[in-house]
Amino acid sequence: MTEYGTRGAAIKAFQLIGWRRPPELREISVPEPGPGEVLLKIGGAGACHSDLHLMEAPEGSASVTFPFTLGHENAGWVEKLGPGAAGYAVGDPVLVYGPWGCGRCPNCRTGMENYCQNEGMERPGGLGRNGGMANYLVVPSTRFLIPIGDLDPREAAPLSDAALTSYHAVKRSLHLLGAGSTAVVIGAGGLGQMAVQLLRALSAATTIVAIDTAPDKLETAKRMGADEALVSGEDAVKRIKDLTLGHGANLVLDMVGIDPTLRVASQVARTLGHLTIVGLGGGALPVNVFSLPHECSALLGVDPGVGGSR
Ligand SMILES: [Zn+2]
Ligand SMILES: [Zn+2]
Repeated sequence: MTEYGTRGAAIKAFQLIGWRRPPELREISVPEPGPGEVLLKIGGAGACHSDLHLMEAPEGSASVTFPFTLGHENAGWVEKLGPGAAGYAVGDPVLVYGPWGCGRCPNCRTGMENYCQNEGMERPGGLGRNGGMANYLVVPSTRFLIPIGDLDPREAAPLSDAALTSYHAVKRSLHLLGAGSTAVVIGAGGLGQMAVQLLRALSAATTIVAIDTAPDKLETAKRMGADEALVSGEDAVKRIKDLTLGHGANLVLDMVGIDPTLRVASQVARTLGHLTIVGLGGGALPVNVFSLPHECSALLGVDPGVGGSR
């Protein structure tokens, strides 16, 4: 134990205590890791749009038990290993893989814990069980820890959700992104900026295009590695068609997901390409034999998590 806490000592936690009530900073005691569990000293806990959804969720619409601590984008240092937990030493810096599955169902056993089939049995920290907006977090298994080497946990936390969602979306389409290929990212906010960097780092795409309505976000996208940064609209569609000799992009990631962005996405996707909807905008993409190029796959609702493609 460090000077940061002893068993039973009071620590602070940012907790939801009821439906449609603002979260409160409350005092709780330092949790004790049970068998196989790990206690982390939190370095960083990111805030996410899902936190706002939870705060505003109608009664009974999410499987949560109050009070619980928010925070599902977490990184920190191993503080204490529960009985039987092994493979890490006290002080190791780690990122927490957010989707906590059961580890036993068919999806979990192929690495897709984000699509655990025992829904309701396991809930991720910060989305049902206690999360990381506190001094300490209990992680139920070392399976959910990722060593981060020299990265500072205080800065690395958003990698576990914002970056992981984009990583999943990019990773599943890497086979389409060989030399000469084009990838388009619609929406250059947090997820989009991550996607541009991941496309640059992981794929052989020759041209990465970012589309947004905000000039400052387009500037950021260029700094992150986008070859072209285009203001959303008909001109952007025409430019992408020109860049791709009329064929369209091999991969289109819609990080917004509203009607206008989906329309642009369907206009710039190519035959045999992928159009992946990541954003939770809730827009509609008409799908019929004429609405998309031949054999273009529309992939819906990519969840945070590696989805079996790690
Ligand atoms: Zn989130
Ligand atoms: Zn499972």
